[in-house]
Amino acid sequence: MTTTLAHRRELFAALAQEAAACRRCEAASCGRRAVLSERNGDAAAARVLFVGEAPGRQGGDRTRVPFSGDQSGRNFQRYLDSINLARAEIFITNAVLCNPRKSSGANRKPTAREIANCSEFLRRQIALVDPPVVVTLGAVALAALSSVAYHEFTLKDSAGRVLRWGGRLLVPLYHPSPQVLASHRREDAQLGDYRAVARALRRARQANETT
Ligand code: SF4
Repeated sequence: MTTTLAHRRELFAALAQEAAACRRCEAASCGRRAVLSERNGDAAAARVLFVGEAPGRQGGDRTRVPFSGDQSGRNFQRYLDSINLARAEIFITNAVLCNPRKSSGANRKPTAREIANCSEFLRRQIALVDPPVVVTLGAVALAALSSVAYHEFTLKDSAGRVLRWGGRLLVPLYHPSPQVLASHRREDAQLGDYRAVARALRRARQANETT
């Protein structure tokens, strides 16, 4: 699809409105405006699309800016800073656009049904943003990409690698939550993984210059 930047922004605004009206998942609370907010970079101009799991209750669902306002957001910002990647250069979305929560109000993992319900929004966001580089944050986000273009990557085997997926470069990373940091991926390993994002961006820039 060949469109101007302005037209792509219009298309993305229409998609955000559609998502804001979506009630496909009855149990989901409404964090979707956070994910598709205009304060979340410029979807039409982003060089890299990050895909997380879902807006967190204390993070994107509360602040309306993805990966901000909680410890996951602070960790994520630290990792972006480590490779000098500004939020204005990226766009962030999630496998599900609404905050999945328990009856107690605590965050929970999105169900397979919720991920399937939201996969069409994910597919359309990727098509509209059309980034040369996609980065997934956590196993749920990596698996959700498979509904857009099938893959068999696992986080354990592919974290911190630059892969080819759906005509783009893909970098699977661990989620920046404090729980993951404590039990699955230490700080030094996370920082090394983010350097793969910088490598992928360099490769994408070089490929663009030679075409
Ligand atoms: S998670 Fe996605 S599919 Fe489900 S209600 Fe929210 S926007 Fe709709």
